[in-house]
Amino acid sequence: MTIAQKTGPILGTALQGPTLHTIPSSVAANVAAVRAWTRARIMAVVKADGYGHGAVPVALAAVAAGAEQLGVTDATEGSALRTAGLTVPIVAWLHPSGIDAERAAADRIDVAVGSVDELRQLIADAGSLGEPGIRVHLSVDTGMARGGCPSTDWEELFRVARAGHGLGRIEVVGLMGHLPLADRAEPGLNRPAVARMEAAVRSSHSAGLGRLTKHLAATSGALTDPATHFDMVRIGAGLVGIDPSGSVALAGASRLTAPIVHTASVGQGTAVGYGWSHVSARPTHLSVVGLGYADGIPRALSRRAAVHVDGRRHPIVGRVSMDQIVIDTGDVAYPRGTVATVFGPEGGAVPSIHEWAAWSDTIPHTIVTGIGPRVKRSIT
Ligand SMILES: *Cc1c(COP(=O)(O)O)cnc(C)c1O
Repeated sequence: MTIAQKTGPILGTALQGPTLHTIPSSVAANVAAVRAWTRARIMAVVKADGYGHGAVPVALAAVAAGAEQLGVTDATEGSALRTAGLTVPIVAWLHPSGIDAERAAADRIDVAVGSVDELRQLIADAGSLGEPGIRVHLSVDTGMARGGCPSTDWEELFRVARAGHGLGRIEVVGLMGHLPLADRAEPGLNRPAVARMEAAVRSSHSAGLGRLTKHLAATSGALTDPATHFDMVRIGAGLVGIDPSGSVALAGASRLTAPIVHTASVGQGTAVGYGWSHVSARPTHLSVVGLGYADGIPRALSRRAAVHVDGRRHPIVGRVSMDQIVIDTGDVAYPRGTVATVFGPEGGAVPSIHEWAAWSDTIPHTIVTGIGPRVKRSIT
């Protein structure tokens, strides 16, 4: 993070290009909102670059607001958080490039392991690293069949873990599951996963593993079903204002802005963009905003899609291009450089990420994680 990012955007410069502004105070408010729902510890999940908002600024804001741990996909992402000065425990759980034991040891990244095979490999790799060994969370399948150790292998997993722990190569500190149905906000639907989690806890105790940090719920479970909380909840979407269960209103944590780069006055019957999918019904003004599908604007958009300029919503007309969209601003001719807000947390005339998700038949997660690399990042 640069100094400029820390102190906020430089105001007053003309034609600041497309920018995604991250709002740390919203992240802090969302951590506080989750805290009001649970006594469990909070792990702030900042995978996929903090759901597109910047892993470091989101992690800093969440930890400052009281999150006790951080969660990422891969140890490499964890290392970047260490470099930024974050000192709380960091858990990495997917390892698309395999577990880099040396890195995990050097940067104190805890790793979740979801198969006997992966665990044996880790224990072997940790052999040369010395005590106290790599901190491990054992990941069990609680009903999703998307990673996590299947129950048929639990006994073996816990036995191998106990042995590796005994050798000082690993330190088993946690047990994790995941909920497949929590976004339906019906606690009854989580019962089988909770029962599996409890069975895994018993099985780990029988294998001689001591007190482990048990964690099962993500944002939707944390906000709708206390029976899923165990010792810690893992909050990702919730940090950036998304409750997948739709139960709790959280604060949007980003604003996407882009300047108008071109404005034209056009007559009735003007066809707009590739394929002429839109034809103006009256004389109007069209403005080009320099953001397109390469920047994460979904190409499949409903006709309700709009952006905010100067207190009003203006519809996007014609097809989304790679680098640009066209908006119909009616009687108003906005000068070049006028800032359009694609989405933001304000509500009212400013579209939310939830509206963008509805307009493109997806979930808000894909809107925020899809913002492309040439959109500048700024911290407000
Ligand atoms: C992404 C993820 C989370 C966070 O889920 P949200 O619904 O975004 O809060 C928690 N646990 C695991 C294993 C995940 O992959």
